Amino acid sequence: MYNAAIEAASLDELRNLQSERLRTLVKRLYKDVPFYKQQFDANGIHPSDIKGIEDIHRLPFTKKNDLRDNYPFGMFAKPMDEVLRIHASSGTTGKPTVVGYTQNDLDVFDEVVARSLVCAGARAGMKLHNAYGYGLFTGGLGMHGGATKLGMAVIPVSGGMTERQLTILQDFKPEVMCCTPSYAQTLSEECAKRGIDTEKLAVQYAILGAEPWTEAIREQVEAGLHVTATNIYGLSEIIGPGVSQEDFEEKGTGSYVWEDHFFPEIVDKDTGEALPYGEEGVLVFTTLTKEALPLIRYWTNDICSIQYDNNAKRSHIKMSSIKGRADDMLIIRGVNLFHTQVEEVIHQFDFLSPNYRLIVERAGTMDTVTVEVETAKGADYQNTVFGEKLKQKIKATIGLSMAIDLKAPDSIPRSQGGKLSRILDKR
Ligand code: ADP
Repeated sequence: MYNAAIEAASLDELRNLQSERLRTLVKRLYKDVPFYKQQFDANGIHPSDIKGIEDIHRLPFTKKNDLRDNYPFGMFAKPMDEVLRIHASSGTTGKPTVVGYTQNDLDVFDEVVARSLVCAGARAGMKLHNAYGYGLFTGGLGMHGGATKLGMAVIPVSGGMTERQLTILQDFKPEVMCCTPSYAQTLSEECAKRGIDTEKLAVQYAILGAEPWTEAIREQVEAGLHVTATNIYGLSEIIGPGVSQEDFEEKGTGSYVWEDHFFPEIVDKDTGEALPYGEEGVLVFTTLTKEALPLIRYWTNDICSIQYDNNAKRSHIKMSSIKGRADDMLIIRGVNLFHTQVEEVIHQFDFLSPNYRLIVERAGTMDTVTVEVETAKGADYQNTVFGEKLKQKIKATIGLSMAIDLKAPDSIPRSQGGKLSRILDKR
C-alpha cells in the first residue's frame, strides 16, 4: 500500500521536505545535465545559492523547446542503463517530447496515481476500466501502474472500439473507469442510444482528464453514466497523469497537487513574474524527486490558479481546472478566448447539449467565430430563439459577437477515445 501520511503533512513539513529535495535536485542537475549547468551559469546561479524552496524563483524556466532542442534524450539526467521506460507526449502541439523513467520514477508514478485513484473514490479490490490509450501516451500505462499498486484489478481496454467498451462495462462490472472527458461523453451517449440502463452498471466513479473540461461535461457524464466524475491532471514532462487529482467529495473545489513531488507555481504568461495564490496564470512545475528527467520550473503552458483550501481533507495545495493552454488561446478581435469559456456559457441553457465546437475563420482582416452546438434531445434546433439567447449571453459574458449554428443532436464529431479538439481553425 502507498503511504497516505504525507497527504496530511503540515505546511512546515511540506516546505522542509520540498527545500531538502530542491537543494539535492539543483546539485544533481548542475553536475549531471549539461543543459542545466549552462543555464545556471548563464543566470549567475550556483547550486549553493539555493537554500530552500523559497529560492525557487531565482531559477530559470525550462520550456518545451528546450526538450525539443535536446531531442530525444539530451536532457536525461541518468545513463540509459538506469532508464526503464520511455514515453512521449501526445504531440498535441507539434513534435512530441520524449521522457524517461528510472525504477524510482516508476515507483513515484505508481504512488501518485494510487493516491489519485483513492482521492477519486477508488479502493483496493475494485476493478478499473482503463480507457486511456496504452502506448507512448502516459495515460494508459500510468493509470495501470497506480491501480496495480493500489490493489485494483485493471482492465486495460485502452481507447477506442466503443462497442467493446460498452460490453466490458456491462459484463466485467468495473466500479471505476478512466478516460478523457470527451470520450466519457461519447460512452454516455452510446449507452443512451443502445438503451443500456446505466443505473444497472457497476461503475460508480469516472476519472477524467488529459484535456480541458468544465461542469457542463461533468453534468452530462454524471447523469448519463450514473457516476461521480472527478478531474485528473498531468503531463508527460512532469510524470504523466496523477500530478493532481480532485477529491470525489470535494468536487468543484480544485484538484490536489501532490506537491511533495511536484512543486507548483503560477506565473504571469508574459513576464514570468510569480503570481499570488488565487490569481490565474501559467502553471509551472519543478519535479522534486524525478531521476531520469528532472525539470526545473517547467512551463506547462496550462492556464489556471492555485490555492490552499483550509476546509479540505488533505493539506496539499489545489489547482483550479485548466482553462486551456496558453498556445490554444484564441485572440479574436483583441479579446482572449478559451473554448472552455464558451462551454461554460452553453452550460447555462437547458436546451443545449455540451457537444460543440468553435469554427474560426478570417473574413478580410476580421476573425470570426461560429459556435456550432447541438441542441439537447427534445429541443428544436431550428428554433432561432435558442441561438439568439446563446449569442446574447456570449456577448454579455465574453464580450465577443459570435455566430451561432444550432445543430441537431449527433451531428458534431465525437471523441473516438483520445483527446478531442473543440476548435476548428480555418484561418
Ligand atoms: P500533449 O501536450 O502532447 O497533449 P500530454 O499527453 O503529456 O502531451 O498531455 C499533457 C497536457 O494535457 C497538459 O499539459 C494539459 O494541457 C492537458 N491536460 C492533461 N490533463 C488535463 C486536465 N485534467 N484538464 C485540462 N487539461 C489537461
